[in-house]
Order: sequence, then structure tokens, then C-alpha cells
Amino acid sequence: VKDEGRNGYCFYTPDMNSDMSDRIEIEHQLRGALERNELSLNYQPIYCLHNKKLMGVEVLLRWNNGVLGSIPPDKFIPIAEQTGLIIPIGEWIIRQACLQGLAWNKDCGENYRIALNVSPRQFRNGHIVQVLLRVLDETGFDPSLLVIEITEGLLIRNDKNTAQTLSRIKAMGITLSMDDFGTGYSSLSYLKQFPFDIIKIDQSFVRELADDPGDQQLVTAAVAMAKGLGLKVIAEGVETDFQASYLTSAGCDALQGYFLGYPVTAEEFMAKVIPPKEF
Ligand code: C2E
Ligand code: CA
Ligand code: CA
Ligand code: CA
Repeated sequence: VKDEGRNGYCFYTPDMNSDMSDRIEIEHQLRGALERNELSLNYQPIYCLHNKKLMGVEVLLRWNNGVLGSIPPDKFIPIAEQTGLIIPIGEWIIRQACLQGLAWNKDCGENYRIALNVSPRQFRNGHIVQVLLRVLDETGFDPSLLVIEITEGLLIRNDKNTAQTLSRIKAMGITLSMDDFGTGYSSLSYLKQFPFDIIKIDQSFVRELADDPGDQQLVTAAVAMAKGLGLKVIAEGVETDFQASYLTSAGCDALQGYFLGYPVTAEEFMAKVIPPKEF
């Protein structure tokens, strides 16, 4: 998004040219990314604070392109969303992640949960429901182990369709998680309107937890409110010992962040993360 001028006009800057051609190049390369096998998934562990065990993973998309190199999701997912490329890519992610979860759970005899990020575009016309039904049917993955993470961006449209689609997903036995909780301005009213099971406290509230009493208060209040509504709380972006202890005593149910584990490939996950870890 470009900076807007005083009167809300969008001024043309030299930067814009290169932004625009970056965009076009990204879009061009992204069109062939699936066929060229350039997309992959990383898995970041989420630890349960009640039994101190690995609870599951968040699935994070990675793209390594021959021309552009490795491009962060924040840069290409919005383009995938605008161009509709997120539709085939999104289905690939869901299938790939379910197959991976199935393989781990079979190998380890565990029931790790798989949390997926889903874009608003995938919700259009209830498309996501068809995809989930298809993939669950094809793979046999247990829907009660699937978590869908949704940001407020989706809920802002707040149409009947969204509510209906979320209810249908929930009725399939899938868990709904509100991502980046607290960053939008209507998080609370959305919790009331939509059938969420989990909130993920955004990393912006965790980052300065050690020095910011305001953030400490907000985290405490968010946990109390979530508990009152019968929701579970996951804190993300946990990078330090202090943050982990604070969030644990504040009553969070689970933690995710570099302090506990980076996002890694499936192979690394199997080799290094699944073996029990002390924290
Ligand atoms: P998100 O869903 O909020 O994901 C968490 C982001 O925080 C990830 O960035 C993760 O690598 C990063 N992270 C995890 N722990 C820490 C930590 O301790 N400290 C810090 N500073 N960061 C941490 P990533 O992988 O670059 O993804 C960025 C965003 O891109 C995600 O934010 C999500 O909105 C989107 N995204 C990623 N994968 C997918 C996907 O498969 N589908 C969709 N629709 N969006 C995705
Ligand atoms: Ca997420
Ligand atoms: Ca998040
Ligand atoms: Ca985010």
C-alpha cells in the first residue's frame, strides 16, 4: 500500500515503478510456481502448557524461485490472493499438510494438530468447504486435528456467507482459530459473532512484554476474556524465556515462537522437533 498524501491523493514516487515491476515479476513467476515445484511447507511447533508436550504445528508456506530467490509470504501471498492464484495454491497446501500430518501421526502414534492459514479469497462462495471436504475425504485425515486460522481481514466483510461458511467448517469437526488477535479493531465483536475455539494473541503484544506493563495488562485481560468465553489461548512470537514464563503464568494454553522452535521443513521436524523437548 502506498503512502497517501495530505488530501488522500496517492503521489507517484520513483519507488512505485520498481514496486510495480516487482509485483508483475512476482505474479509472472508465481503462475508457474506450483508446476515447477517451487512451493514448500514449513512447520512450526506449538507446545501445550498443560502437559508441556508438543501439541501440533502451524503450517507456513515457503517459495523459492529460480529467478527471484526466496520470497517471504508477506510479499507474495497478497499477490496470490489478488490474482486468484491462492485458490490452486491453497488447495495444494491443505492437501500437502494433511498428508504430512497423517504420516507423522501414523509414525509416532500421536495426534498432532495441523493449523492452516487461509486467505479470504478461499472463502469466496464457500469454496473452502468444498476443498476441505475433498481433501479430508481423499486423505482420511481426522478433521478434529485440523485447525483453520483466520484473520480479521476475512471477517471485516462480515456477510452472511462468511458466518455460514465458518459454521459449516465447524460442523465438519474442524477447529477455528482467530489469528493475530488484538490487531484489528473489532476482534471482540467478531468473537461474539463467529464460532471460534481459539484466539492467537498477536506477537505485537508479546514482543515488548518485559518492558511494557500495558502489554502485560492486555495479555492478562485477553486471557481472562477468552476463558470467560470458553476459548483457548495461544500466544505467538514467543522469543524469550521471560515471555514464555510470563505467558505461562498469565494462563495461556499454548505457546509458539522462536524460543520454542523455528518453522522447519517436514524432515527437520521429524528429526529434531518430534523427539520430546524440555522447556
Ligand atoms: P502468521 O499467520 O501470523 O504467521 C506467523 C509468522 O510469524 C510467520 O511468519 C512465522 O515464521 C513468524 N514467527 C513465528 N515465531 C516467531 C517469533 O518468535 N518471532 C518472530 N518475529 N516471528 C515469528 P511467515 O512464515 O513469514 O508468514 C507471514 C504471514 O504470511 C503469516 O502470518 C500468514 O499471514 C501468511 N502465511 C504464511 N503461510 C501461509 C499460508 O499457507 N497461507 C496463507 N493464506 N497465508 C500464509
Ligand atoms: Ca497464522
Ligand atoms: Ca499470527
Ligand atoms: Ca500475521
